[in-house]
Amino acid sequence: MKLIGDWCLKSLVLSCILLAMPIRQVISFPANRLAHFTQLQTNPQVRTALDWFAAHHAWIDDEQARLTEIPAPTFQESERAAAVKVLLSAVGLEVTTDKTGNVIGLLRGSSDKEVVVLSAHLDTVFPPETEVKVHREKSRMTAPGISDNGAGLAALVAVARAIHEARIQPQRGILFVANVGEEGEGNLRGMRAVVDAYRDRLKAVIVLDGSSVDHVTTKALASRRVEVVITGPGGHSWSDFGVPNPINALVRGSVRFISTRIPSTPRTTFNLGQIEGGTSVNSIPYEARLKVDLRSEKEDELTRLEGALRECVAAGVRDELETSRDRSKGKLEWKLDSLGERPGGELAANSSLLAALRAADEFVGNQSRVERASTDANIPLSLGIEAIAIGAGGSGGGAHSLQEWYESDGRETGLKRVLLTLLASSAVTAEKTR
Ligand SMILES: [Zn+2]
Repeated sequence: MKLIGDWCLKSLVLSCILLAMPIRQVISFPANRLAHFTQLQTNPQVRTALDWFAAHHAWIDDEQARLTEIPAPTFQESERAAAVKVLLSAVGLEVTTDKTGNVIGLLRGSSDKEVVVLSAHLDTVFPPETEVKVHREKSRMTAPGISDNGAGLAALVAVARAIHEARIQPQRGILFVANVGEEGEGNLRGMRAVVDAYRDRLKAVIVLDGSSVDHVTTKALASRRVEVVITGPGGHSWSDFGVPNPINALVRGSVRFISTRIPSTPRTTFNLGQIEGGTSVNSIPYEARLKVDLRSEKEDELTRLEGALRECVAAGVRDELETSRDRSKGKLEWKLDSLGERPGGELAANSSLLAALRAADEFVGNQSRVERASTDANIPLSLGIEAIAIGAGGSGGGAHSLQEWYESDGRETGLKRVLLTLLASSAVTAEKTR
């Protein structure tokens, strides 16, 4: 009650100020100017948008469940994209689908010289045949992809609708983006296309990924995914024994690589994640493949680690050839292909976007820790464009598993945090109430 009373007083004072103002006045948000942020919070239209979330809790839950039940494996997002397009069109945005498959809804600003992006990825890690029916029990929903990124998509459409219902006029244009290709071998292709298309005008990017309000990703974890392929002549296990064997070579190279020394600072990791090859137990294989994931806080370490992998594979192939008894049928060939690369980057500690997030946290009574992760924000951050990735509120767990769950209790805190950060970045044109 006290809060409400306080707010009424504030909004009364603010209404008087607004009445005394010229018809259009821009409430902008210079970094570290919390006074301006307070002005934003007490803007009556912003208050309407903030209150919209609690009043439409059930609608947001239902849309999250409905979108989650449309399968959307990476590279097969089009059906879910079409459903999001309908939702964004319904709130008066100018919606297009780009040639990569991203759905982009524009809310025009009073000037479109600069735009701010709010995005959520459409794709999931689950193959198309996965059962994605959502099981609901009170506020808990269980289904693959319900949190990552059902929660992000629900927040995207909820924020767009709240802004529409409250008739908020941003100063900068806002692009509501449901993008493809965030997971795995999608290699952030959706976000790459968005940043490419709007690069000159892009003021900030806010990525919604999964649930919670406990973190803000401001540091992009650089990663590379590569595939080693070794081929040879193949043959019969008995009659051709002695012919160089690609699996032997791969094992020899792998054993060398896994003892490569890696630093703990900058934190650097590798994972031999998938190994394939051969056709039967009694055949000398003609091919062996290995997928490796390399990550580091520093790009240089990644380059060094990839170099080490190359050397080890080359040495493994050499060892196998040197010890093979029969080289008459052919030698071994090898190559290392890139499956994807996520560039690193970091948001400056004094950026206006981070200041906006911090002020929003303060407003909703939240504390969040800064994190380094691999998200869609890697792309803008690597180009020096202000970007963060945050959760969409509520709580969740079991991401990328069939037991994935999401609980929408307290979701409003996350949605308010998103809305205020977005509006602080876009700035709001206050219109005189009549
Ligand atoms: Zn995700």
